[in-house]
Amino acid sequence: MSTTTTDAVLGYDEALASYDPVMGLEVHVELGTATKMFCGCATTFGAEPNTQVCPVCLGLPGALPVVNEVAVESAIRIGLALHCDIASWCRFARKNYFYPDMPKNFQTSQYDEPIAFDGYLDVELEDGTTYRVEIERAHMEEDTGKSLHVGGSTGRIHGAEYSLVDYNRAGIPLIEIVTKPLVGAGERAPEVAKAYVGALRELLRALGVSDVKMEQGSMRCDANVSLRPKAGDPTDPRNAEQLAVPFGTRTETKNVNSLRSVERAVRYEICRHAAVLSSGGSILQETRHWHEDTGVTTSGREKSDAEDYRYFPEPDLVPVAPSAERVEELRGTLPEDPAVRRRRVQAEHGWSDLEMRDVLNAGALDLIEETIAAGGTAAGAKKWWLGEVARRANEANQPLTEYATQVGVTPGAIAELEGLVSSGRLNDKMAREVMGGVLDGEGTPTQVADARGLELVEDDDALQAAITTVIERNPDIAEKIRGGKVQAAGALIGQVMKEMKGQADAGKARSLILAALGVEG
Ligand code: ADP
Ligand code: MG
Ligand code: ZN
Repeated sequence: MSTTTTDAVLGYDEALASYDPVMGLEVHVELGTATKMFCGCATTFGAEPNTQVCPVCLGLPGALPVVNEVAVESAIRIGLALHCDIASWCRFARKNYFYPDMPKNFQTSQYDEPIAFDGYLDVELEDGTTYRVEIERAHMEEDTGKSLHVGGSTGRIHGAEYSLVDYNRAGIPLIEIVTKPLVGAGERAPEVAKAYVGALRELLRALGVSDVKMEQGSMRCDANVSLRPKAGDPTDPRNAEQLAVPFGTRTETKNVNSLRSVERAVRYEICRHAAVLSSGGSILQETRHWHEDTGVTTSGREKSDAEDYRYFPEPDLVPVAPSAERVEELRGTLPEDPAVRRRRVQAEHGWSDLEMRDVLNAGALDLIEETIAAGGTAAGAKKWWLGEVARRANEANQPLTEYATQVGVTPGAIAELEGLVSSGRLNDKMAREVMGGVLDGEGTPTQVADARGLELVEDDDALQAAITTVIERNPDIAEKIRGGKVQAAGALIGQVMKEMKGQADAGKARSLILAALGVEG
């Protein structure tokens, strides 16, 4: 729905001067299982509408659901990675409501018996401090289908001529991860929200349970925000006065689908709430929609805490009761904590904080590690992934890993290219040309080098001749080098390389020049 009126907002600093923000974040993650939560239908993204459906996920009478074991294991692993307790026995529940893209008219979810509860995730903030996000619960449920409203200008139902519904997504396993009310973030609340969703995404990716593509909706965040009057320093955990102030009324901004939007939406709601409250108004407990283009939220539907979904235990599914041994086995499959891993890798390669930030911003950490595992060096892997490949990915407006997969540049190929340089077959310039060929889909580095006839001239006579010419042409520089100014050799190397039209090894040219002038390298 588009609104014609614009809500009043208070400036951020002004809002924070009078109020203490409290947040609650609900994150839905679509699991990357091959089949749906309660049936054997495929889950491939982008398939023809209604081709991945069956009587169970269409809610036809008499169809019986069966729990996806891999989804339950993923849920337990997520719970463990979030330091949660795992229920030794829990059930699914029916959450009853009518929605056109939910064919059963109830969602199979979990209610008062979630699979995982009472955990936390420590998130690192930009100033180097850590904020502990307390997790209320992580529970299993299923996704809904998708409606497509045709004929209107907005893509929303208002003004549409007709609507289509695609049930391919109905029944895909979802994990909903809900935080406790987050207090004490103060002015850093928007940053905490963004950092938490980012850290959660990194963790889920490391667990390998989801492709966590926010832009495709496989990870979505609902951001609850409320304000309460500020009492002293709200970020001081011993400030009993602030802790005693009851929470204000929250709004729930739905389906925010990028990290940046999470931060902006929380910030916007703080400013909007503050304007309402400071003018004596009260906040309506409701859902809100985030508008990426205009940077505002608009009213959705009113939603009270007493909403009655007529939850009751799902009679068609057996309870989930993982044994303690199974849970411990799954704990053994957890990946290294991403933050710990980042610090370890940075120290291992001796990267500065700035270099590390570049690597992370480029999304290149895994690629670099895999390149090293394939025989490359840290410096070489970093140079190639952050250089030519990142530049091309940027041009194609694609994340690095996605671009690499698409054009077929693998960590193995990068390691191979490095090998061609270190073995002396290619120099740097030639390697760049080979890289270009690889990115253009001409094959592996060796294939490209072969096809283009790229090989350093092994002909030492030609190189030697070029060196003699260049030394004769530059008696002053030659004299300096003879006198011990070895750095001056750089100028000669450049000229030798030019004589050789780039087809020579610069390191070799250097040692031959020094030898010719009778100095030690
Ligand atoms: P709902 O059914 O409305 O989605 P949930 O319990 O699933 O309710 O999620 C509510 C979220 O909002 C939780 O993260 C919770 O911690 C948080 N929350 C609850 N009360 C407040 C409040 N007053 N201000 C901010 N967040 C809140
Ligand atoms: Mg919820
Ligand atoms: Zn199905």
